[in-house]
Amino acid sequence: MIRISKTSKLDGILSWSLQALETCQGSLNPDGTLVPACSGCYATTGNYNYPNVKAPRLENKSDWKRDAWVSDMVQALDSSRYFRWFDSGDIYSVALAEKIFQVMEQTPWCKHWLPTRMAKFAKYQDVLSRMQALDNVMVRFSSDSVSGEFDARHGSVIIENPEALPNGATLCEAYNNGGKCNGCRSCYNKDVAVIAYPAHGRKMSKVIRILSTKV
Ligand code: SF4
Repeated sequence: MIRISKTSKLDGILSWSLQALETCQGSLNPDGTLVPACSGCYATTGNYNYPNVKAPRLENKSDWKRDAWVSDMVQALDSSRYFRWFDSGDIYSVALAEKIFQVMEQTPWCKHWLPTRMAKFAKYQDVLSRMQALDNVMVRFSSDSVSGEFDARHGSVIIENPEALPNGATLCEAYNNGGKCNGCRSCYNKDVAVIAYPAHGRKMSKVIRILSTKV
């Protein structure tokens, strides 16, 4: 069964997610340690550890393999104008990426936002490029930095605070709106090249503190 979440932070926009870290091969450095952005991942703390939050993410990991999954997803998005992939987790399989591409292609009425680190791996680049070529899709390749460093490949980055906004990035102002999007849809907008998210949460603050003391 399709398990879609309604996220209040995203103004009630629907999202489809997997369990964080275990589906996030792009979260690792070559030596197996977590990249800075994933060391403070919000999806490994708080509510995300509750069984009722974990259950749909675990079920989704096997559910997408069903033959009818693409048509079920297309039907589930029938009335949606926006859709967020991966509030947690990532595209851990090329076969899953191909199915997501089909869902995107068959729902031109809906704008899709897909954040990912999988473009690090050559085998994902073709399908991610085909997704990005669709008018209704914005794939955002996330920078590993928590201090605003990004390059031409990236579509998002974490910054230490709103005052540290780097040139060329658009500030996510959810922090000004009780952590909610409050009508902003920049993440889904192909004309917004890079979004900068101010760090939030105690775990991320700790990562930034540790990294700052190493400089
Ligand atoms: S940039 Fe806009 S759409 Fe994206 S998370 Fe922030 S408030 Fe929401």
